[in-house]
Formats: sequence, structure tokens, C-alpha cells
Amino acid sequence: MCASNQNPQTRFQAVKRRMRGACEVARREIGSVKLLAVSKRQPTSAIRLLHGLGQRAFGENYVDEAVEKMEALKDLDIEWHFIGPIQSNKTRLIAEHFDWAQSIDREKIVRRLAAQRPEASNPLNVLIQVNLDDEAQKAGCHPKDLPKLAAAVAAEPRLCLRGLMAIPAPRADGNDQQQVFERLAAMMAELKIHHPAMDCLSAGMSADLEAAIAAGSTLVRVGTDLFGPRSDS
Ligand SMILES: *Cc1c(COP(=O)(O)O)cnc(C)c1O
Repeated sequence: MCASNQNPQTRFQAVKRRMRGACEVARREIGSVKLLAVSKRQPTSAIRLLHGLGQRAFGENYVDEAVEKMEALKDLDIEWHFIGPIQSNKTRLIAEHFDWAQSIDREKIVRRLAAQRPEASNPLNVLIQVNLDDEAQKAGCHPKDLPKLAAAVAAEPRLCLRGLMAIPAPRADGNDQQQVFERLAAMMAELKIHHPAMDCLSAGMSADLEAAIAAGSTLVRVGTDLFGPRSDS
């Protein structure tokens, strides 16, 4: 697949088709999986184009870049998701500008976002990022710390605990990949006993969205296959 040769509409339709196909295989309703367009390192013109095709949810990894784009796109109704690693000196900008923060992995960040979320805004939707592969250098909380972190988010009235997110290391085999996502889905099912409002499992990217949908993902985060290669790659 050479995504760069195609126009945005063709790429958008191809991703939607893959999502539909994966839902059919998994016997899931097509409407049960949402698409997050990952627009990091993509120009605002590309976001505008995709918005024109009907896409509303966009994900960004770099706070300063994102806030600049939001300013340029403030005439559009966009749901903004922060999906990159969170440094504590950036929490105020995230709390003030985003609708969702998907990469929460420690209590310090929970407390800062809660304190900094403006009163006039809706509560910030929060996903806890899980480090499924136990890789020390990777973002995400250890699975054993999940119950405590979930309770910390749930205790904050300015935050709304919506679910889990993970970026597992790629596996060569599709079944292995699916099993990793199934572990994540099981963690969510366990947490839901205490937090029944959790409804978002953010899993799957360009390379592995089928495996993620088979395991129960409700939100796939796609960059490359939607926009073509990024300027950083
Ligand atoms: C970049 C990124 C994506 C999109 O990855 P692609 O392989 O380009 O689809 C998804 N999730 C996160 C957290 C990312 O940083």
C-alpha cells in the first residue's frame, strides 16, 4: 500500500472500509468503532480537507503545535484529543484547549489537569494509558497501578474517566497482536466493575486496527494511512 499516491478522499474511504470490514469479521456494529484522525506533523490544510469529508475527531501529540493549529481552525467544530506524552509544564495548555486527554499515566498529571481545567468548560474526558509490554522507557502506567490511578481520576469532578489507551509494540503475527489488545480489554472490563461509565477503549493504529477491533476497540487512532507519510518520517 502506498498511501502517498492517493488523494485524501480515497485514503479516508479506504480506512473507513477497513474499519467496516473488521467490524463485520468481529460481528460488531459498524457504529461501535470511532475514527480518531491523528494529525500530528500534518498541515492545517490537511485537517480542513478531512473535516470537509465529515471527520470531526482529531488527535495531536505536541502541545504547542496543536494549540497553534486550533487557533487557525477555530471556525471548525472539531473534537480535539491529546495523545502524546504529557510533561507537567504542559498540563495547563492541555486542560484549557483539549476535549480529551488519552495519555494520562500518573497521579501528578491527574491533579494538575483537574486543578487547571477551566470552570466554564465541560469536564476533560480522560483515558489512562497502559504500558502493556512492561517496557521501562515507554509511556503508560503499569497494569498493577491501574485501580489506584482510575480512582484518582474518578475522584476529580473536573475530569471524566472514559477508558483506557495503549500503544503495544508491534507483533509480526495478527493473532499475537489481537491477544495483546484482548489483555487491555480485560483490564477495562475489570475496572468497569467500579467505574461503570468507562466506555472508550482506544486501541489500534494504521498497522493494527483490525486486530484492535477484533479485541473490542471503540476508537482507532489512524495517522499515516489517512494523511500519507508525516514530514517527520
Ligand atoms: C502517531 C500516533 C498514532 C498514529 O499512528 P499511525 O501509525 O501513523 O497510524 C496513533 N496513536 C498515537 C498515540 C500516536 O502517537
